[in-house]
Amino acid sequence: MSTDDQRAANPTLDDFATEVEAFFASVPEILGKESSKLTRSQTYRAALADAGLAGVSYPTEFGGRGLSAEHEAVFQRIATPLQPSEESTFGIGIGMALPTIRDYGSESLKERFLRPGLRGEEIWCQLYSEPGAGSDLAGLTCKAERDGDEWIVTGQKVWTSGAQQSDLGILLARTDPDAPKHAGITMFVLPMNQPGVEVRPLVQMTGVAEFNEVFMDEARCPADWVVGDVNAGWKLAVALLAHERTSIGKGQVTKHSEHSKAGRFPIPVEGLLDRASTAGRRHDPVMRDALAQAYIGERIIPWLAQRGVHPSVGKLWRTLQGRHVAQIAHELGGGHATAWEHDDTEADYWAYHVLNCRGMSLGGGTDEVQKNTLGERVLGLPREPGPDRNTPFRDLLKN
Ligand SMILES: Cc1cc2nc3c(=O)[nH]c(=O)nc-3n(C[C@H](O)[C@H](O)[C@H](O)COP(=O)(O)OP(=O)(O)OC[C@H]3O[C@@H](n4cnc5c(N)ncnc54)[C@H](O)[C@@H]3O)c2cc1C
Repeated sequence: MSTDDQRAANPTLDDFATEVEAFFASVPEILGKESSKLTRSQTYRAALADAGLAGVSYPTEFGGRGLSAEHEAVFQRIATPLQPSEESTFGIGIGMALPTIRDYGSESLKERFLRPGLRGEEIWCQLYSEPGAGSDLAGLTCKAERDGDEWIVTGQKVWTSGAQQSDLGILLARTDPDAPKHAGITMFVLPMNQPGVEVRPLVQMTGVAEFNEVFMDEARCPADWVVGDVNAGWKLAVALLAHERTSIGKGQVTKHSEHSKAGRFPIPVEGLLDRASTAGRRHDPVMRDALAQAYIGERIIPWLAQRGVHPSVGKLWRTLQGRHVAQIAHELGGGHATAWEHDDTEADYWAYHVLNCRGMSLGGGTDEVQKNTLGERVLGLPREPGPDRNTPFRDLLKN
């Protein structure tokens, strides 16, 4: 291997930072050639993979770069504010499903899913929540039964973000109703494009259908697409949720200039400053105070991520920030923030974010659930009473 090749295979942190910055400088040109959001998303992810940046600390045999956790941290620090909104198409795969498979999946699952997932060739959704099982996720009733070399899955999921365009779902299903509720759950990878899976979009008050109901009626899943062990899925479910909360907590802020309904990100303070000027409120002391608090809140988000705080801290801070900036936008936007015409891009942007921010306090676990988690796991407070923890799931009262 030449010295240049060795440097490329194991660059210093400074050289790696330069490499990552150079890639992101080229992203506008890469995206400029494509039109639809899906094509742009896939083009972006493939370019990232070709540049050796799609899975910085993933093993090379599964499509990663095989670099250290320090390199990964450098990548995250530089990439988070520069990533295009197209990355959100892969949020569940890259941020949640793939790291869980990397850490807990069999060699054949890693071989099958990691490389195409990192390249953006497959889109993932998260099949966790059910009508009767949200915060109480372990109360889920969707069931999977073994039939030869397949599992047969029947049940309903809800609030499934992006299911309408997903190829694969990371699924939790009950595989032993005679075990206590946390003990009889298994994690699967479910192929979404099959006759037994029906996806029905749910239109939100933003006017956009970002999430769905998913009905599974004897859907089929290959026997070896179980992640981890059968009936041992709860530990993996929690591990995936930690990845989810960390991803949300990183708090990517889209560029204000995009002015689109760009996803579930807090409104950038830069955009609020422009808006305050337009509204003639930039010198109003009350507004200045609110904007200063918002600026501090925005700066704290990446610092929390860099310090590696408990995932619930970052998640909670980011959702509170989202609501704080939306409140300011609402005040500055007046009627535009809640009543708008869909052909008015400017008003559409503000209204979308004002209406959307509340959902971020629910998705990935509600604010109250984050506080419970922090109380129990960080502060060491007594656990919530769980009288049903040892009772067979079959005998529990159901929602
Ligand atoms: C934008 C968005 C995207 C989502 N995407 C997905 C997805 O892709 N896949 C998926 O599976 N799910 C998804 N969800 C669902 C999300 O995970 C659930 O909405 C969430 O876990 C809450 O569950 P629930 O809606 O059933 O509310 P519930 O659990 O019924 O909660 C109702 C209220 O009671 C409070 N509460 C409940 N239990 C407690 C407790 N023990 N202590 C204190 N307060 C409590 C809650 O905080 C909440 O205020 C998404 C939700 C949103 C809003």
